[in-house]
Amino acid sequence: MGIELSSEARVAPLQSGSPTIATLCSHSSLQLFHGARQEGFRTLGIAAREPPRFYDAFPLAKPDRFLTVPSIQDLPNHVDVLRKERSVLVPHGSFVEYLGPEAFMQLDVPVFGNRAVIGWESDRRKEREWLESAGVPMPKRYERFEDVDGPVIVKYYGAKGGRGFFLAKDREALKGFTPTGPHVIQEYVIGTRYYIHFFYSPLNTDGFRVATGSLELLGMDRRDEANIDELYKLGSAEELRRSGLRPTFVVTGNVPVILRESLLPQVFDIGARIIERSIELFGGMVGPFCVEGIMTEELEFKVFEISTRIVAGTTLFIRGSPYSDLVAPDLSMGRRIALELKRALRAGRAREVLS
Ligand code: ATP
Repeated sequence: MGIELSSEARVAPLQSGSPTIATLCSHSSLQLFHGARQEGFRTLGIAAREPPRFYDAFPLAKPDRFLTVPSIQDLPNHVDVLRKERSVLVPHGSFVEYLGPEAFMQLDVPVFGNRAVIGWESDRRKEREWLESAGVPMPKRYERFEDVDGPVIVKYYGAKGGRGFFLAKDREALKGFTPTGPHVIQEYVIGTRYYIHFFYSPLNTDGFRVATGSLELLGMDRRDEANIDELYKLGSAEELRRSGLRPTFVVTGNVPVILRESLLPQVFDIGARIIERSIELFGGMVGPFCVEGIMTEELEFKVFEISTRIVAGTTLFIRGSPYSDLVAPDLSMGRRIALELKRALRAGRAREVLS
């Protein structure tokens, strides 16, 4: 099975019994609704209190209908509406975060991808176990401050968007620092960050073969992070600390990047290992995922995080990226998800892409 796109001009809506693609009105929803529509799906936006007005400005990405709930935490009380609409939920970072990983996993509505992955991603320890046992190169981890032998980043568990992380250039700089909660001490990798957008299709029978399907590389971005990106302009880390200014890594936007072509084999190898190990651990990760890492000057990619679903940086490529253009024209991640669902339904293999 290769990739066949519907031409937007002649796309006919799927039959009335076919699913509706639904997601929370946030994060990458514009792209998800746009891509679903390109493949002929009906769309449903889940909104807390009232639908965001900005959809009115983007008619090609406005969902056909909205489900408005008092708060996102209330969604489990409205699954009857979602089921009546034959909804397939597409998870994204904000959807899982706002509802809570546990509640999301328990929703009695079909979800695109294997929802078991959420349990592995939302726990930093389990995520590390997965990646390390897959042989993915990662930043060194220290158990105690006394063991530190280079620059480190101290991350708290459950830190949202990198708030409260502590950076130290060496062991000396950690003196006097007392962590305020459960944390990990990680090597601070010096290099260039890349956030790599992969898609794993269990249905593909050609392409870059991994397990029974194949791995696609659809794009790459780098995140703009406040305040770390601009903080250096105010002085050295020591000076800033004395003034009470601490670095944070709050994502405010994304910029497109590409990788030196000679480095592509390395990242494909990492993507493939992650998929193969996911199959052994929990039945496999299906669909979009993002490998987030730092390329060092020795040209070694060290992975500090994986997002096991669509990431917001993919919206850069609503009309395709330099990589996805070599897979198929006009292929956003949102459209790729819709396409996989359509192919699975037509082949009677929905169980392989839904959970
Ligand atoms: P988010 O929820 O936004 O994904 P998070 O709280 O899970 O953030 P990470 O993604 O682990 O935190 O890290 C946030 C940022 O910190 C990264 O985007 C990167 O800029 C920086 N960072 C994380 N780990 C390292 C590392 N080991 N070396 C250098 N920089 C790092």
